[in-house]
Amino acid sequence: MRPTLLVLGGTMEATALARAAAERGMSGVVSFAGRVARPLRQPLPQRVGGFGGVEGLEAYLKTERITHVIDATHPFAAQMSRNAALACAATGVPLIALTRPPWTPAPGDRWTCVADIAGAVSALDRPRLHVMLAVGRMHLAAFAPNPQHRYLLRLVDPPVGPLPFPEAEVIVDRGPFDAAADRALMARCGTELVVSKNSGGAGAYAKIAAARALGVPVVMIDRPEPPARREAHEVSEVLDWISHAGAALGV
Ligand code: NAP
Repeated sequence: MRPTLLVLGGTMEATALARAAAERGMSGVVSFAGRVARPLRQPLPQRVGGFGGVEGLEAYLKTERITHVIDATHPFAAQMSRNAALACAATGVPLIALTRPPWTPAPGDRWTCVADIAGAVSALDRPRLHVMLAVGRMHLAAFAPNPQHRYLLRLVDPPVGPLPFPEAEVIVDRGPFDAAADRALMARCGTELVVSKNSGGAGAYAKIAAARALGVPVVMIDRPEPPARREAHEVSEVLDWISHAGAALGV
């Protein structure tokens, strides 16, 4: 049977996979949650918006006759990944995750690792600093208990409505970013602390490399635990799985 892919997207890896699948003549769709105003145009057809939980995703898989699900969401998109694992298990549609290995500290890094966003909020319960807060728009409100800092925010879309803290510089930009440019940005802003998710991958690593070069400490937020599933780190592994083993092996 000709494969019909559902690529759960929102990452550069998802776009790369969609490009490779389209080049090989595979059909399928890339799905976005709808968090950014203008998602990057995909080489496969795209859809936007939630499925309606696990049951909604199960119904979608059946209606659209999906043969393979590739979870290429961001490592912090824990709910979507859980839903995909449950819906695929219930319907028997094979699932693979295209994931980025987490970053690990290199010599010169000054990381404090915390378990989650709440841990990062607690780590900022300290006297005023200039903080680069790189956690994404949806988590900014959690940092309202620490209004004493001056924040540097880099967001894909301009913020809608007031920010939850009084002092912030907002830069509207989307990756991939460059380490030298991030070093210059942090130097200009007098950044004394970076707060980052451990996203992995190359596109967002610039701020981590820049922090190391400047001797700036980083509060690194660990990833949520993924569900049990098959994982690949390379597009080629996923293509191989689709063409040779996907339907037979499952998770
Ligand atoms: P989440 O908390 O795991 O998902 C919440 C809900 O959003 C899901 O239950 C699902 O709704 C919907 N959803 C999420 N991803 C979707 C997708 N690719 N296609 C259709 N519906 C999706 O995820 P999130 O943290 O809000 O992230 C949303 C998207 O942004 C993800 O696709 C992710 O790749 C991307 N992203 C996330 C981060 C991050 O740090 N979290 C960073 C960069 C990009 P239903 O239950 O209704 O199906």
